[in-house]
Amino acid sequence: MPIPILRLALPSPLRRLFDYRAPDSVPRTALQPGMRLRVPFGRREVIGVLVEITDQSDVPEAKLKTALEVLDIQPPLPAALFKLCLWTAQYYQHSLGDTFSWALPTLLRQGEPAEARQERFWHLAEGARVDDPRLARAPRQREALKTIAQHPHGVAHALLAKLQLSKDSLDLLRQKGLLRMEVRRYAPAEHHGSWLLQPELTLNPQQRLAVEAVRAGLGGYQAFLLAGVTGSGKTEVYLQLIHQVLAAGRQALVLIPEINLGPQTLARFERRFNARIALLHSNVNDRERLDAWLAARDGEADIIIGTRSALFTPMKNPGLIIIDEEHDASYKQQEGLRYHARDLAVVRARQENLPIVLGSATPSLESLHNAHSGRYALLKLTERAGGAQPPQFHRLDVRSRPLDSGISGPLQQAMAQTLAAGQQVLVFLNRRGFAPTLLCHDCGWLSQCPRCDARMTLHQRHNELRCHHCGHCERPPSNCPSCRHVDLRPVGAGTERAEERLAVLFPDYPVLRIDRDSTARKGAMDQLLGTINRGEPCLLVGTQMLAKGHHFPRVTLVAILDADGGLFSADFRASERMAQLILQVAGRAGRAEEPGQVIIQTHLADHPLLVQLTEQGYFAFAEQALSERRAAGLPPFSHLALLRAEAHKPGQAEAFLDDACAEAEGLLGALLLGGVELLGPVPAPMERRAGRFRAQLLLQASARAPLHRLMAAWLPLLEQLPDSRTVRWSLDVDPIDL
Ligand code: ADP
Ligand code: ZN
Ligand code: ZN
Repeated sequence: MPIPILRLALPSPLRRLFDYRAPDSVPRTALQPGMRLRVPFGRREVIGVLVEITDQSDVPEAKLKTALEVLDIQPPLPAALFKLCLWTAQYYQHSLGDTFSWALPTLLRQGEPAEARQERFWHLAEGARVDDPRLARAPRQREALKTIAQHPHGVAHALLAKLQLSKDSLDLLRQKGLLRMEVRRYAPAEHHGSWLLQPELTLNPQQRLAVEAVRAGLGGYQAFLLAGVTGSGKTEVYLQLIHQVLAAGRQALVLIPEINLGPQTLARFERRFNARIALLHSNVNDRERLDAWLAARDGEADIIIGTRSALFTPMKNPGLIIIDEEHDASYKQQEGLRYHARDLAVVRARQENLPIVLGSATPSLESLHNAHSGRYALLKLTERAGGAQPPQFHRLDVRSRPLDSGISGPLQQAMAQTLAAGQQVLVFLNRRGFAPTLLCHDCGWLSQCPRCDARMTLHQRHNELRCHHCGHCERPPSNCPSCRHVDLRPVGAGTERAEERLAVLFPDYPVLRIDRDSTARKGAMDQLLGTINRGEPCLLVGTQMLAKGHHFPRVTLVAILDADGGLFSADFRASERMAQLILQVAGRAGRAEEPGQVIIQTHLADHPLLVQLTEQGYFAFAEQALSERRAAGLPPFSHLALLRAEAHKPGQAEAFLDDACAEAEGLLGALLLGGVELLGPVPAPMERRAGRFRAQLLLQASARAPLHRLMAAWLPLLEQLPDSRTVRWSLDVDPIDL
């Protein structure tokens, strides 16, 4: 018998597998794809994932190294997830080994056993009695023994403090032979009893239709787009669907966006369900993540809630996938493996034969297009549940009106009226800091970042100029660095400046700022939310952190200080993002009895997209935007891939992309592929960033197949280009930032 050759995916950016000889002691029958092995790699040892077992290798016999150790008895990754990783690597043209690195919990990547943590448990010893005479004068030990005796399955060591048991008493009891300690794995209690902790709401007719439609589809693949205005009761629909799934003995996976929604969503699920919920977001540590992952895989978690990467959580009995706020940009990873969790979730649902629900008040144009073309079933919730009124929109033309720190006169009046009526005002401004630029009024000097083609933002509270792109930070100069004059002025307004000005304009009311700076301290966000929820009149100023998910029943006026950025940006997705953001922010207004109004300050009050959005609503806007995309041949009516490159020397990134472009042209001819256009290379929108010069080459295709055939042949050639190791480059399939 020849020694089997193992083909492994290793944590390397190279898009290929690596061959090793199996360790001598390991029989072929003990090896299965998906197992992890420790192998020598260059001068290091790394952990790889077995992909294939064969008898032949292109590597000469003498050069073939032997794997050091097999780490698993069973593949830690179930077959379904293994398949999803293969698909992901191929679709995103990414190294399979690195794909596994993104998909697997960190501890598994580092070789930790793929088993739940072993824990210590305290038990009553055989024949021990709680009235043991030796304890007559040891009341604390007697109490401790009684407590342990009440737990027939033992007490986990980690819970001692909670039960007010002291380790010293337990040690003494063990010395007396009354207690024993057992080390075993922690298995969460089996589910029993009803799944519901609180009654379900009575659905309105639209909600009922939605629940019925998905319920009829449980057990097979189907994608649903649940388009429901904010407050229309989408979450209630999710909850009732999950109940159905749990009752059928299956698990539900719920993906949520990144911005601090975790705890609130979790609380809502925990109030509703008597179920084992596994949480996977950025604040859980590596051990908790692995435990949650294992619990999901082994069927010991009923509901799995997490951000983007939770998509890769294996499930023993999957029943349903839900993507909340499906349009949210945080589902797209912007580094390393540039996957889109929403798109991959649809692939996963198809592979595992599950229904999937994509929910949003402002669906992405991609998903709406899929609904129009029949790939997704469209379910609409057009009214707010619980009877709240939709907000009224006003476009406030500020062309001839002076702005005072970004706030116009009519807006000030509306704010004063709202506050006087005892209600709250929300001011939205998607710019942190005091002012986006510092300007010298004598010579025109601007606070330019030394490492980026970008201005540095003035943060007055910390007396700093900060670059929001590379993190560079310096003290603001007291004289102009160029002409030495002292007339330096902040230009434009960020949240700090708006906060400061509002405090002067409305001295009788509290002004609360909510952005990444003001909520950086742990607990700061909860404190701010607590103040808002007390309901007294106040002004909230904030960035998109304010826009997502919160329920502010006392806010009746929403002011959007500047909506214009989205209307004349070079990025074709900017208007879609602006519309989504405006509606998300507007959705905070008048969620309870009092109706809300939304005032949008703009220099483009007649812009057709803005008019559509505010007068006809998001769907009319989306139709208009989709027809513009169709006319321009932009996604979702075409498919894009973006090759980005950056280098320390000017011109180097472009040179690499020129070579790449030539290779692609060659391949298009050789493979007879039509319908793929190469656009560029051109400098990136911000050419210099963090000291590197950046450029990009865009591939645009009318159909996916030729684009993917081209990329599959192209990437191995790029890895061979002379500059491929000096230039930092990456491919982004379906980019969302151009
Ligand atoms: P969404 O997720 O679409 O923003 P939610 O599910 O959070 O909406 O619902 C908004 C509010 O309406 C919540 O307070 C919720 O409890 C309430 N609600 C939802 N569905 C109903 C219903 N069928 N009857 C009464 N109230 C409802
Ligand atoms: Zn100057
Ligand atoms: Zn910078």
